[in-house]
Amino acid sequence: MDRGRIIHIAVFMIFVGIPTSATFYPPLVSRFTNLLQLNPISIWLGRLGVLLVVVYLGNRLLNVLGTRSTSGTHEDASEDMTLQDLDKIEGCIERQGVAWKGTAHLNRNNITNIEVPFDPICPNCQTGFIDTTDDPSFQEQRQNPGYSPKAQSIPVFSCPNNNCGHTVERNAEQHDAARRLFERYARQIVESTDEDYSLRALVENIHGPVTPQAVWKRYTEVVDDDQVSTNCFH
Ligand SMILES: [Zn+2]
Repeated sequence: MDRGRIIHIAVFMIFVGIPTSATFYPPLVSRFTNLLQLNPISIWLGRLGVLLVVVYLGNRLLNVLGTRSTSGTHEDASEDMTLQDLDKIEGCIERQGVAWKGTAHLNRNNITNIEVPFDPICPNCQTGFIDTTDDPSFQEQRQNPGYSPKAQSIPVFSCPNNNCGHTVERNAEQHDAARRLFERYARQIVESTDEDYSLRALVENIHGPVTPQAVWKRYTEVVDDDQVSTNCFH
């Protein structure tokens, strides 16, 4: 029995039980009421008791109706569970030919931490890039004899997969830009309400298990944005 019910019963006994017993068994309490001039008070206590019972029953009725309306949409309740249990969102940012994997850690659907490790990924074959330089070929050097080879070397991310060979120029700001973008999108998901891309809407429209990556996959379907990608998941 919870505390609320005990209080209800106690209130019921004090305001209804005692005045009623005073009405039906006057000898029982008449001595006290006469002694203390309590009769008017007991009448008012009785009326107050009836009022409290009406309020109490009305409250119970509303509770029952409220419970019924939420249990009527049973799917909502189970989605609330997974929404509460969701402890992170995992996504990919694709920018200037490089994919970055980000994780937004959640606690009660609030972002507690954003992680985008420095781990550039080839968006074409999802292999981790290696840092290298794109050196001019011997032929190119001969065509431009005035330039030193070092000045012409371009720092690049290079895909080590021979079947891919994707190479993109790298610069210092790419990782920071990807991190900022991921944070922006993650906050948009978590902090918005009543949008197609709000966390609740995304979770409700996932077909299959709700996973950190499934949320982002649904997000890519909702938003039309080249930088929102899934090309880092495999
Ligand atoms: Zn590749």
